Amino acid sequence: MSESCSSAGELLIDADEAVRLIIAHTHRGPTETVPLSDALFRTLAEPIVCDVDDPPFDRSVMDGYAVRSADVADVPVVLKLAGTIPAGQVPDQALQPGQAMQINTGAPIPAGADAVVRVEQTKAADIENVRILSAVEAGMLITNRASYIRAGQTVLEAGKRLTPEAIAIAATAGATQVTIYRQPRVAIIVTGDELCDIDQTPSGAQIRNSNQYLLEALVKQAHAEPVLLGIARDDLMAIAKKVTQGMKCDVMCLCGGVSMGKFDFVPQALSECGAVTHFHRVAIKPGRPTLFATCENGQPVFALPGNPISTFIAFRLFVLVGLDCVEGRDPQPPQKMRARLCGQLNATANRRCYQPAHIRLTANGEMQAQPLPWHGSGNMFGLATTDGFIVRPAYSESVVDGDFVDILIT
Ligand code: AMP
Ligand code: MG
Repeated sequence: MSESCSSAGELLIDADEAVRLIIAHTHRGPTETVPLSDALFRTLAEPIVCDVDDPPFDRSVMDGYAVRSADVADVPVVLKLAGTIPAGQVPDQALQPGQAMQINTGAPIPAGADAVVRVEQTKAADIENVRILSAVEAGMLITNRASYIRAGQTVLEAGKRLTPEAIAIAATAGATQVTIYRQPRVAIIVTGDELCDIDQTPSGAQIRNSNQYLLEALVKQAHAEPVLLGIARDDLMAIAKKVTQGMKCDVMCLCGGVSMGKFDFVPQALSECGAVTHFHRVAIKPGRPTLFATCENGQPVFALPGNPISTFIAFRLFVLVGLDCVEGRDPQPPQKMRARLCGQLNATANRRCYQPAHIRLTANGEMQAQPLPWHGSGNMFGLATTDGFIVRPAYSESVVDGDFVDILIT
């Protein structure tokens, strides 16, 4: 059954449908070409093709002796030493029958040799000879030329994020310059008359503007660049002014002012600035008021509810998808896993529920999830000891100790 639903005049969109709409309406951002060293965690806009065979020559896997396998079929056998091949040196002679050459890890295999015997399976007979103690088959301890990659083969596809491992692959392929999607700049606008800066002691009805820091951290964690546009008061014009500033960025993230309250002006401010809303209100708990729109310039805009846990969940579920699209990656919805419940949870209503939980792996390899008391989406302290959330579909039955549940590790 679809999780989307309407009840008591409230039209909610299913979270999966929300993700589909984000994917459908978010376009790729601009690209640039930069030195490989400047591309960590950026995403490739063009594939990387290897310009050489790798390995570029037949080479030894280990330190040992290059031999002809036919010479070492019957062991022990004494072979005549015919030289040494260090890594980085091309052998200047071929190996003759009855000979062995000392060879180092990564050094080229000399012509005539077809195997390497590791040093531990040999014994120096005298200065001119080596005693081979184990028989080896042809090909043993040799990595053949191009056995990893052939020149002209694609080693990294467009859309791949350049992790340290991928940087190493690109380096092996000789990619000194790479064409990547520009790091997205994410405008962060928080709204609310009640907000004061965190260096102040809240007075009267004030609270600290913690969400700006939350969003800044989440954007950085996503390897994007936060652009802090500060606090907009709960005033249509004030919000519209900030939204206009935010249009200079690639993505816009607003926080607060998106619910049903009398002073929730964000939806109206966005439409007055020419943005088109694709969804508003999603069947998730927390995070229901989330809105997604695009500006006339195509820029995606996420308006997230102000309660901190709602902001957090909505960012993880939706803004990350938008960033994937802007940077040309295949959008990856958060990976769900299964765990055994330690505790019990009531049946759910018309929304998919995210319940903070302790998640641990037991000694026998079983994932367990223990729900933590839910103090409401306004209580960020509730997340101080969580490892993630138990995810429960809308309209699901109550679950008890030992049942399997979906989890989202954060
Ligand atoms: P709103 O989404 O504007 O209705 O706000 C919902 C709740 O989140 C209210 O209790 C706000 O005070 C709180 N809130 C809104 N913005 C922030 C923020 N930037 N930092 C911390 N809490 C906030
Ligand atoms: Mg507000």
